[in-house]
Amino acid sequence: MGGFKLGKMTLGGLFKEPETIQYPSQTKTPPPGLKGHVSNDVTACILCGICQRRCPCGAIEVDKAARAWKIDRFRCVQCGSCVRECPKSCLSMEPSYAPPATKKRTDTFDVPKAEKTA
Ligand code: SF4
Ligand code: SF4
Repeated sequence: MGGFKLGKMTLGGLFKEPETIQYPSQTKTPPPGLKGHVSNDVTACILCGICQRRCPCGAIEVDKAARAWKIDRFRCVQCGSCVRECPKSCLSMEPSYAPPATKKRTDTFDVPKAEKTA
């Protein structure tokens, strides 16, 4: 019985469209609920460092002196803790697929100085 089922699946697979696609030249519509990847609206970021302290993977680095917010995409597990804990709500999960990469990389966002209001 098991062998019959397996044979049927194997034969069926020969005539079906493949489940995989040639990403990134082909893309799929992200399914509802896709966590995607962390994005930072740096215009609202105050470099408080809470996201860095809350990240369980050590994926975020906040460099106050250099006014830089960094994320190691290969350490991030998309848990969303940083997004929930950010006091300025400047972090969000962008529901899209990240571009492919051949090397591990850290994305750096330059945080502009807040303009003083009179
Ligand atoms: S918690 Fe929010 S405001 Fe604070 S450093 Fe992280 S992104 Fe910036
Ligand atoms: S989503 Fe989770 S793992 Fe990724 S940077 Fe935020 S806290 Fe860290």
